[in-house]
Amino acid sequence: AVHERDETAEDPRETLREVFGFEDFRPGQKPVVDALLSGQNVLAVMPTGAGKSLCFQVPALMRPGFAVVVSPLIALMQNQVALLQSFGAPAGMLHSGRTREENVADWKAAVAGEIKLLYMSPERLATERMQAALAKADVSLFVIDEAHCISQWGHDFRPEYLALENLKTLKPGTPVAAFTATADEDTRADMVERLFAGNVETFVSGFDRPNLTLSVEEKSGPDKRIEELLHERRGQQGIVYCGSRKNTENLAEKLSAAGHNAIAYHAGLPDEERGERLNRFLSEPDLVVCATIAFGMGIDKPDIRYVIHRDMPASPEAYYQEIGRAGRDGRPAEAILLYSASDLMFRRRMIDDGGAPEDIKRHEKRKLDILSAYCEALTCRRNLLLGYFGEMRTEPCGKCDVCIDPPKTEDATADARLFLEAAMETGEVYGQAHLIDVLRGAETEKVLKAKHDDLTVFARGTKRPAKSWRSLVGQLFAQGYVEMQGEYRSIVVTPQGRGFLNAGGSVSLKKTRAKETTQALKKTQ
Ligand code: ADP
Ligand code: ZN
Repeated sequence: AVHERDETAEDPRETLREVFGFEDFRPGQKPVVDALLSGQNVLAVMPTGAGKSLCFQVPALMRPGFAVVVSPLIALMQNQVALLQSFGAPAGMLHSGRTREENVADWKAAVAGEIKLLYMSPERLATERMQAALAKADVSLFVIDEAHCISQWGHDFRPEYLALENLKTLKPGTPVAAFTATADEDTRADMVERLFAGNVETFVSGFDRPNLTLSVEEKSGPDKRIEELLHERRGQQGIVYCGSRKNTENLAEKLSAAGHNAIAYHAGLPDEERGERLNRFLSEPDLVVCATIAFGMGIDKPDIRYVIHRDMPASPEAYYQEIGRAGRDGRPAEAILLYSASDLMFRRRMIDDGGAPEDIKRHEKRKLDILSAYCEALTCRRNLLLGYFGEMRTEPCGKCDVCIDPPKTEDATADARLFLEAAMETGEVYGQAHLIDVLRGAETEKVLKAKHDDLTVFARGTKRPAKSWRSLVGQLFAQGYVEMQGEYRSIVVTPQGRGFLNAGGSVSLKKTRAKETTQALKKTQ
């Protein structure tokens, strides 16, 4: 049946109810629907599962003409078309997996007004014949699904998407709507330029996962610490992400020895073994999986109660995706990250020393900066993460560790100065461990041999424990006072650090967080 409607009087909620049977739009959907109904171009950034399909399907059913929906995969088209048809919404598709007759029939139905949504591949849309035909047809709306495929910055560049650049001039007055789950700023800017030449309204929504509590702990003795964390979460199912295969196996072994039902999972296991472990994960409700990022693709188990990161995730996007596997049932779940500033510094060095072009290096380092800022946050962690994805909030969430137990800051001006001086006086060629030894007055072989016990800074920092010094160095790095260079990760004072040494100023740092925070969070659930 064709949904004939009086265009001016229609309320999109009516269509939503009548066709799809949903009571109301989700908060992020309505603004997109309204913008498309009023004929605006739209870029909508929504994570998977937020409900982007309805954002264009409802306007497509309401506007005169038929919507052209570009989708990268035949399987995706088939799913969507079948789903629409099951709701009685007239939809069709053109793709290489069907006979010519079937394709012609759907095209004719669209032109005759019998189909309101016509799905096709970007290759098909790119043909001259199709563009000429579309120029004459009554198209209500162009929809580009997985729009990040047009950008080389995205993780899924498809050259055939580049042909979509002419959509913006193909039919003036016909709105173009692009949808993606990719939040990365460079990719987004690229999409805006290529698809819309800047003429677009961008909407970002749906990234918040309110049932997830977020917390970060400084990493020291991570395996032991994870064992403690799991002790309080016995009987619950969770994932512990590790940075290497070896770490997954070591950790799983230690946890098993401590009486937990734990296994390792990584891409190095034989297929059969992986399948078996996956089955255990699906069937044993208390199983802890110590995994590399190989674990997760397609894992959709609703009752995962926690995701712990033993090691740093690769990027904010990766982190969001990995913690997103917890609490899909909507019940309280936890995301706990064990953070080490020196891990991050090491990664930064690897990027610097790698052979990538400068702009790629900059892009990758920016992602590390965001992770670092997330870990060192002095204000609501959730808002920081959502802000990165483009979803701006000002009200603190009240549920992350920072909101519940705000970090205490201290005036660390004197010690920051001492540390920078130690680095300068020793020629900026030593790593943090040695500098901390010097400041703490440790008479190590290395200190004595270099005669660093003769320096004025020697033993000037005995009041601060070594662990606290390491945290201070991490924060000096996060705030841009020092960098680490070369194979030995030598501490080098940045121009900003030099400015501080010469001109003065004050440095305020967060005190080392106590481990009780995660426990405190646990009690608030
Ligand atoms: P995405 O394409 O963003 O990954 P979908 O469009 O497939 O997400 O929607 C995800 C799920 O949410 C689907 O099962 C869909 O039916 C459901 N959904 C979307 N919008 C609503 C709504 N307003 N009310 C209830 N359920 C909705
Ligand atoms: Zn918060």
